[in-house]
Amino acid sequence: MVVILKPGTSQNEIRKLVAKFEAMDLRVGVTNGVDCSILGLVGDTTKVDADKILLNECVERVTRISEPYKKANRKFHPEDTVVDVDGVPVGGNNFTVIAGPCSVESEEQIIEVAKRVQEQGATMLRGGAFKPRTSPYSFQGLGTEGLDLLLAAKAETGLPIVTEIMAPRYCDLFEQKVDLVQVGARNMQNFELLKEVGKMSKPVLLKRGLANTYEEWIMSAEYIMSEGNENVILCERGIRTFEKYTRNTLDVSAVPSIKRMCHLPIIIDPSHSGGYSWLVEPLALSGVAAGADGLIIEVHNDPAHALCDGQQSLTPPQFGDLMGKVEKMVDLMGKTVVK
Ligand code: PEP
Ligand code: MN
Repeated sequence: MVVILKPGTSQNEIRKLVAKFEAMDLRVGVTNGVDCSILGLVGDTTKVDADKILLNECVERVTRISEPYKKANRKFHPEDTVVDVDGVPVGGNNFTVIAGPCSVESEEQIIEVAKRVQEQGATMLRGGAFKPRTSPYSFQGLGTEGLDLLLAAKAETGLPIVTEIMAPRYCDLFEQKVDLVQVGARNMQNFELLKEVGKMSKPVLLKRGLANTYEEWIMSAEYIMSEGNENVILCERGIRTFEKYTRNTLDVSAVPSIKRMCHLPIIIDPSHSGGYSWLVEPLALSGVAAGADGLIIEVHNDPAHALCDGQQSLTPPQFGDLMGKVEKMVDLMGKTVVK
């Protein structure tokens, strides 16, 4: 971290500032220029609040040189992290496909969809039980009963289950029942929730917030990791832009950028990114081409009557078609589809 002082700062003021930083266990190098002096802070600056340093009258500017995240940082962990979800690997040379309905609606529905997506090559089942809906009058999900229906589908197929947690009070329940705990876009910066899922032993799927930067997203992963849970998978699900034609805008650059910044696996959600079933295939394939580690796709046996997100859901045959293309693209990228 570099602290640039205002012209005319006295040596006495510099000494006081240096003492303050040294008291924070940092080493300080002072460079006295013609017009101004510069302090170079060396050590663990993750706990240093740059805005607070600016409160010192003599400070002109503060620049961070190293990233504020340590555990998720690729620099300190050059190899890819592979997360194990109840025996299914995500990351490294693996390409993992998660599929299932937006919401769990009934036992027949979730078991039927689970069987169909498994036949077509999915190795994990998604399905929302607690749904984050924009309107309080929309279907909110089946709640705890939904978790039990997911478990019934797992008992039939063996597929590990992925579902969204909305509040810290559900952590114990999810710890017992869920294989991959999803933190949704709307909760990406719910720091209390992040800290609590950080104490769980189950891996976490952290979706990118609707308008969050890569660094903010990685910092949210860092929250989970700093509590001891290092099994975090990131998911790009489209961001808000000025474009209204599509539901969101898939940020394909997120994949290579996140991989450069961080060692965690990153998967793509083409369903929420585009918001229409006809957009799922091109977006999914672009994610594979960008180097993603997997996909999470909404599939419904009867999209026209889905209780949530039918317009962006694929039918099982459409999902099967897509899987054929995905396999070819994954091969081209030098990865292997997890079977
Ligand atoms: C979901 O995957 O069911 C969901 C609600 O996604 P997001 O949090 O990305 O909107
Ligand atoms: Mn959905």
